[in-house]
Amino acid sequence: MKLIDGKAVAAEIKNNLKHEVDAYRLSSGRSPHLAAILVGDNPASQAYVGNKVKSCGEVGFNSTLIRLDANTSEDALLHQIKLLNEDPDIDGFIVQLPLPDHIDEVKVTLAIDYKKDVDGFHPYNFGRMAQGLPCFLPATPYGITLLLERYNIETAGKHVVVVGRSNIVGTPISILLSRKSKTGDATVTLTHSKTKNLQSILLKADIIIAAIGIPNFIKDDMVSQGAIVIDVGINRIESESYTNGSKLVGDVDFEHVRYKASMITPVPGGVGPMTVVGLMLNTFKAAKKEVYQ
Ligand code: NDP
Repeated sequence: MKLIDGKAVAAEIKNNLKHEVDAYRLSSGRSPHLAAILVGDNPASQAYVGNKVKSCGEVGFNSTLIRLDANTSEDALLHQIKLLNEDPDIDGFIVQLPLPDHIDEVKVTLAIDYKKDVDGFHPYNFGRMAQGLPCFLPATPYGITLLLERYNIETAGKHVVVVGRSNIVGTPISILLSRKSKTGDATVTLTHSKTKNLQSILLKADIIIAAIGIPNFIKDDMVSQGAIVIDVGINRIESESYTNGSKLVGDVDFEHVRYKASMITPVPGGVGPMTVVGLMLNTFKAAKKEVYQ
């Protein structure tokens, strides 16, 4: 079994990006600028946003973190988004999900200027992605394709089974892998909670992409010998037996599946760091006006 080391690949890409950003700063006299809005104090969201802000520093971006109270109204959030849309110094921004229940996520996503939508969640970017047009790819699927590329994982003609159909991971990665492209040309089966006989479908997969949100859901008897397994899940499980009272696990039962898989991503240190890389690359493209003028 070979470990797919997302942490190492992310560090390598960020290091290269830093040099490109240095050159951009010299020629343009400014640094790329990413803003993030965090509503409420969800610990996981705070950690994700913290990593994104830290990565901005590492690659030489400016960053602005806007923290809003959990009781912030939808109108107040939409107003904040309008300010960022109109601020010429902000190249791109994200609104960290999930949002409190009283705020409509769709409305919020639609309010973001698609030219600054560096998370790639706006339907305009999603539609362009589906048609293979220049766009901001959603950060996690983008990161997964970079990992596949870096490890020379052939996708053409392979059977990929994606478990989970969310708008931010499962659905877009299934579209990207099935498109006519370098990390595409796969035959993709998109599965979800209503799928029947998931085990038998998974056993026919050359590549499995798990984005479910259930700790250790994919067991070793669901994976064929030699399959490649990409685990997107990030789940915190608590137990007094862990050093800090909790630990992070994926959607794949790594300890057992690793004996079946030919290649597998760990959690943490697999897809997570690559999501941040996807965001950094999108922000740099936004600063350079590479996708939209
Ligand atoms: P969602 O909750 O939006 O979607 C989960 C999907 O899993 C749904 O499509 C659901 O089906 C499906 N599902 C649930 N139960 C089953 C089941 N028993 N069998 C088959 N499918 C099932 O999750 P996300 O896509 O947002 O996130 C998935 C995981 O990835 C989470 O752990 C999340 O924390 C992690 N994540 C990690 C990121 C990273 O950077 N590494 C980035 C984003 C997410 P249905 O549609 O029928 O309900």
